[in-house]
Amino acid sequence: MAATAPAQTIVTRFAPSPTGRLHLGHAHSALLGWRIAREAGGRFLLRIEDIDPVRCRPEYTEGILEDLAWLGLDWDGAPRIQSRHLPEYRAVLERLQGEGLLYPCFCTRADIAREVAAIGHAPHGPDGVLYPGTCRRLSAAERATRMASGEPYALRLDMQAAIARLEGPLSFEEEGRGRLRCDPARFGDVVLARKDIPASYHLCVTHDDALQGVTLVTRAEDLLPATDLHRLLQTLLGWPEPRYHHHPLLMGPDGKRLSKRDKAPTLAALREAGHSPAAVREMAFGGAAQARP
Ligand code: GLU
Repeated sequence: MAATAPAQTIVTRFAPSPTGRLHLGHAHSALLGWRIAREAGGRFLLRIEDIDPVRCRPEYTEGILEDLAWLGLDWDGAPRIQSRHLPEYRAVLERLQGEGLLYPCFCTRADIAREVAAIGHAPHGPDGVLYPGTCRRLSAAERATRMASGEPYALRLDMQAAIARLEGPLSFEEEGRGRLRCDPARFGDVVLARKDIPASYHLCVTHDDALQGVTLVTRAEDLLPATDLHRLLQTLLGWPEPRYHHHPLLMGPDGKRLSKRDKAPTLAALREAGHSPAAVREMAFGGAAQARP
């Protein structure tokens, strides 16, 4: 009898950024990944994406752990705290740099705005206005002088060079929608390390999903466009391709997207108001907040 390969264990994760307390939208995301993993006898991981020291706070990390436990979720292994792994992200940047795919960018926001105004039009990508490529055109000598002088710089991906390395078009498997084609070029020369933050969300998330063996990425559909860039990074770096399940954003009773900015009720506030974990789990999957059809 021919040996059959063991079915792949499903590994999902919830990867919040501790920039505030969790609300129902987060609960929806976390419960989705958790349910899929638990129903399949797979693994559910928790990752704290606290790479931005300005916006992230340790007390919010504490709050996330508390809220998820209160909701009745459990996760496998210790949560991965990204800020404790900066040398790993640095090593990935060095790899890309060694392959000639990154360049230092000294531009300030004002420099970019001036350059864009001079060009007269400002194409936008999923992360905002596309970088006009000013520092990509610097000579090697000028780059070296400015770096040696201690001028701060970000690291940008040379998108054209990166795309030239690909052997064919990129795509990914989206649950219920089949294979979707990627167009990473619409990000332009995206920043992979900011002047003040040692690595970008895009770099860390793809690195960690690969490192942690995530097989199914469950997250809100506002991150669907970012997947094009994530597939590019995975391919350049030889990392495995996970499947994706982007869920609809949760809408409040007013039909507006739930978000911290719009003062969506936090899980902590719902708990303080006397709701039980079961009631809040129910709200996150229907009832007071509706998933957009
Ligand atoms: N850390 C991201 C956020 O809180 C989510 C990352 C992901 O799920 O890929 O928006």
